[in-house]
Amino acid sequence: MFVTQIISTIASCSVDPGELTPEQAHRAMQVHLSCSVDACRMRRRARRTLVEAKRMVLDERATP
Ligand SMILES: [Zn+2]
Repeated sequence: MFVTQIISTIASCSVDPGELTPEQAHRAMQVHLSCSVDACRMRRRARRTLVEAKRMVLDERATP
């Protein structure tokens, strides 16, 4: 169904995918594990999604 589309959507660093489900955000975080949040819009969005979903707590000591 939409899985392939979602995977390709979250594969790009330069495109903000819009609203994500926490599951999609988790997946995106894995895909963009080595990205910087400064450079990667996808990672930024995924992190925000997880924070808003209370799936992840920001830790200032850790690299986001
Ligand atoms: Zn990225």
